[in-house]
Amino acid sequence: MSCIAGRLALRCLCRTKNDSTHLVRHMSFLSEFQKSLKEKHPFAPIQFGPTDNRPPDEADIVIIGGGLVGSSIAYFLKRKIVRGMRVVVIERDPAYTRASSVLSVGGIHQQFSLPENVQMSMYGAEFLRNIKEHLTVDDADPPDVQFNPQGYLFLATEKSARQMKANYDIQRENGAKVELLTATKVKEKFPWINTDGIELASYGTENEGWFDPWCLLAALKQKAKSLGVQYVHGNVTGFTLRKDKIPKGGPYDPYYDNRIRNVKISMPNSPEMIPLSAAVVINAAGPQAGHLSNLLKIGDGKNEMSVSLPVEPRKRYVYVCYCPSGPGLDCPLVVDPTGAYFRREGLGGNYIAGLSPTQKEEPSVDNLNVDYDWLKIDCLFSSQIKSAWAGFYDYNTVDQNAIIGVHPIISNFFFANGFSGHGIQQAPAIGRAMSELLLEQSYKTIDLSRFGFQRFIDQQLLYETNYSSNVKTEDVNV
Ligand SMILES: Cc1cc2nc3c(=O)[nH]c(=O)nc-3n(C[C@H](O)[C@H](O)[C@H](O)COP(=O)(O)OP(=O)(O)OC[C@H]3O[C@@H](n4cnc5c(N)ncnc54)[C@H](O)[C@@H]3O)c2cc1C
Repeated sequence: MSCIAGRLALRCLCRTKNDSTHLVRHMSFLSEFQKSLKEKHPFAPIQFGPTDNRPPDEADIVIIGGGLVGSSIAYFLKRKIVRGMRVVVIERDPAYTRASSVLSVGGIHQQFSLPENVQMSMYGAEFLRNIKEHLTVDDADPPDVQFNPQGYLFLATEKSARQMKANYDIQRENGAKVELLTATKVKEKFPWINTDGIELASYGTENEGWFDPWCLLAALKQKAKSLGVQYVHGNVTGFTLRKDKIPKGGPYDPYYDNRIRNVKISMPNSPEMIPLSAAVVINAAGPQAGHLSNLLKIGDGKNEMSVSLPVEPRKRYVYVCYCPSGPGLDCPLVVDPTGAYFRREGLGGNYIAGLSPTQKEEPSVDNLNVDYDWLKIDCLFSSQIKSAWAGFYDYNTVDQNAIIGVHPIISNFFFANGFSGHGIQQAPAIGRAMSELLLEQSYKTIDLSRFGFQRFIDQQLLYETNYSSNVKTEDVNV
């Protein structure tokens, strides 16, 4: 018997503010969420450990932002060169109260249309499968990231079925384990789904599911530290540039060699501002990446310097609802044709659900408050919102895909930004790719050249094509 009403997924589960029904119970997000984190991860503060108080005078590589992306880069760099290379991560909030990494829903899937995205997520799954090989410290296993191996089930209407089929071909060519299901097959496999209006579905049979990003971050950080990475608690508030004119005909002629000389770090609870001299600086500041780049006047000059890093925070709500007679263990992460999604959260009848707003509906990013009225959750039997939280997407406002590689003018400033809802699953691939770029001068595994900053200058934009009716790429990549 179908327990969840309507079209199933979220066509039935979720409706936006303008709809009429209000089944929403208001709760204080922060206290609930923090309580649940504490219950789930009683040792989390110990695992994150204290950050070192003072930065050294100089470092080979400085990573700004110690979330999943920054920590993955740090890990892969030090895995390649353990001694003789000083890697420092600057993190302004070691409790990660606002970091995307810990406020995400930890999903991973391969159902993209750009080969690089398919491959990056497949590597993410491989990394998780071999996590002990990567993240064991002193013979102690890393924390269990609680991987739930359930596929993503994307539903398409007649209008979007052709695009779904085209994406499927690309995914298969790239080795993804995905199958197409007719509406009848969907019904056979998941009888609780209302398939009215559904023409086709795409279902991941391997390498997909969800996990606990908090645990992955703790494990990566612990491992990176064990390899000698230094985490510094501080806020990067500026840079100084070196401006040595390089010989005419040199590699960057006719430009000045505009490299960063120092990263300026404002220390916590202190007026002190410490300059850290760095050979290479990596922007891994998540949603704040655009702001950080502005400090270098990227986007505030001529020619290449006129193009800014198009990354800004965008608030996304996640609702936890309770439906004791909902689908069980084999419940996939379901994405309906509007881009609304839901999945099981544990086995106690809890589900999480969400839907990205349209451009016009984008909420303010001044705070992380939840609008409980924005989404209505309907369920035929008993369903109620138990809690909810909000987090910031590291949103690439131009083409919603990752931006990786060096800036064309500031030749020691690298980007690892703009994941727009995919950053958790792509973090291992990005860490590995950045280590290749920096230590081997080019990509050796997945070629991410197209994902460079240069694409905004050349207007060679990279869009995902998805089959949701009214949404952009990131909306279906929870
Ligand atoms: C609700 C939600 C659901 C999501 N679901 C998924 C999902 O299912 N799957 C998926 O793959 N992705 C998902 N994402 C996206 C994913 O969380 C992000 O893409 C990813 O976490 C980005 O990681 P990061 O390390 O770059 O950013 P963050 O985790 O935000 O880390 C950046 C760090 O930089 C620090 N920082 C910023 N500025 C400075 C500065 N000036 N000085 C020092 N430190 C600084 C911040 O304190 C922060 O800790 C979701 C995001 C949200 C909000």
